[in-house]
Amino acid sequence: MKSGKQIRRIVIVGGGSAGWMSAAALSNALGNSANITLIESEAIGTVGVGEATIPPIRKFNQRLGISEADFVRATQGSFKLGIEFAGWTKEGESYFHPFGHYGADFDAHVPFHHYWLSDHIHGRSAGPLDDYSICYAASKSGRFAHPNRDPRQVQSRLDYAYHFDATRYAAFLRTYAEARGVTRLEARVTDVALDPENGHILNVSLDNNQSIEGDLFLDCTGFIGVLIEGAMKTGYEDWSRWLPCNRAVAIPSESKGEPLPYTRSTCREAGWQWRIPLQHRTGNGYVYCDRFSTAEKAEQVLRDNLDGAPLADAKHLRFLTGRRNKFWKKNCVAVGLSAGFMEPLESTSLHLIQFAIMRLLTLFPDTEMSPLLAEEYNRLTVAEYERIRDFLVLHYIANERDEPFWKEMAALEVSESLQFKIDHFRENGVISLDGRELFGKPSWLAVLIGQGVFPKRAPGLSGRAAERGIPVSTRFAQVKDAITVATDTMPTHAEAIRNLIGNN
Ligand SMILES: Cc1cc2nc3c(=O)[nH]c(=O)nc-3n(C[C@H](O)[C@H](O)[C@H](O)COP(=O)(O)OP(=O)(O)OC[C@H]3O[C@@H](n4cnc5c(N)ncnc54)[C@H](O)[C@@H]3O)c2cc1C
Repeated sequence: MKSGKQIRRIVIVGGGSAGWMSAAALSNALGNSANITLIESEAIGTVGVGEATIPPIRKFNQRLGISEADFVRATQGSFKLGIEFAGWTKEGESYFHPFGHYGADFDAHVPFHHYWLSDHIHGRSAGPLDDYSICYAASKSGRFAHPNRDPRQVQSRLDYAYHFDATRYAAFLRTYAEARGVTRLEARVTDVALDPENGHILNVSLDNNQSIEGDLFLDCTGFIGVLIEGAMKTGYEDWSRWLPCNRAVAIPSESKGEPLPYTRSTCREAGWQWRIPLQHRTGNGYVYCDRFSTAEKAEQVLRDNLDGAPLADAKHLRFLTGRRNKFWKKNCVAVGLSAGFMEPLESTSLHLIQFAIMRLLTLFPDTEMSPLLAEEYNRLTVAEYERIRDFLVLHYIANERDEPFWKEMAALEVSESLQFKIDHFRENGVISLDGRELFGKPSWLAVLIGQGVFPKRAPGLSGRAAERGIPVSTRFAQVKDAITVATDTMPTHAEAIRNLIGNN
């Protein structure tokens, strides 16, 4: 390897969402200053799930110059305003994690949710937190509209993501990337040659006897991690003590009625079931722990709980929650499932792909591969993974369900970092974030309150509203009214999709 020259040859192994998102973003960012080759094997195939997202995905598409209409049309996509969690505290109860913000900021010194917490603690009449979310209101009435840019309008508090067909998204990005010069090779990587001097990857051998050299290699091979684990022996940090679900079964089904503008996650005996509404079908799956259910039982539970006719055979998947010890090692960067996997509860995997690509572009190396770049990349990525892990674990711990799996989860010893957050909220109503967290205060609030974790006392100045002359109950009523009026004028979700993409 020559030292300190620009990287000219990038090899991406794997053509799932991670591979094609990487190929699209790198070809867009690097133009013709680098040759990008993507190797994928149809015989191996992709994981084929991964259909719900969180709002930052919009930025990914925007950076690539992809229009929302083209994207939603190509992927049979729909809009997502949040996630409903059914049965996560106890059977028959549910709560909603909306995107966007609650209420409206009517006091420069006190955030809206402090007033709501104060009201709740003092047993007054503000009603459920959900009443102050425009995403919740729109979801429950099956409506959708884009956020309003005027901060005085309650619709400015709305945020959204998408549901989409993951296979179509990869195909869409493939067309995009190939149009920008990415070369695709249909082959299987059978061997990886390392430089004996510095341990960098020199080339990969393919089952068609070709050998592909590169300066930088992206491992997008899924759980197996052909480069990052197979060749670089990075090691894996197992998180199953916190996130024990290790299997999933997925079955798409026919759509019933108009698509809902939100994902539904419903508790089942040994895990939870997802329901993701697309234009042309509904994605369903059951994520479970194999210590509490067999694969046959899980498939039956899923089949019994489909709300439309199945459209394909069941797909069974195994995984181990956790992360690679290093995401970037030498000249190899793991992107996607090869880097790690938590579980799809908050639709974070595609986001982690986006995050990995953007971070790589920010810290883009030259052929010298300064180890400090990898060190910084790994530091930031570990922090991102751990924060997401804690947020996911929060969903499980405060449940009052009777099944053995759920009892085990309720008794879980959580990480110190999560315990810290819970303690601060319970004691003083403080949501303690470090400022760069993917899930902001409204998300933590939604899940803490949704799971029945309440503070002992109201935070900050919220208890002094009367002395400070803030008519809180009037403001609460105004916010609710504004949400109702704004929601009533929105088109239905199906109309909003049609308005965007036309009828074809
Ligand atoms: C049950 C489940 C539900 C999920 N739901 C969501 C969700 O709702 N939202 C979300 O954001 N994410 C979700 N995910 C995660 C999401 O599916 C993945 O992050 C995403 O699909 C990226 O996968 P990938 O491209 O890393 O791997 P894969 O899709 O597995 O692709 C791997 C690629 O590598 C290729 N390959 C492997 N070995 C070789 C080799 N030796 N030679 C050549 N090519 C090779 C394969 O052919 C394939 O093209 C879910 C995951 C699971 C398991």
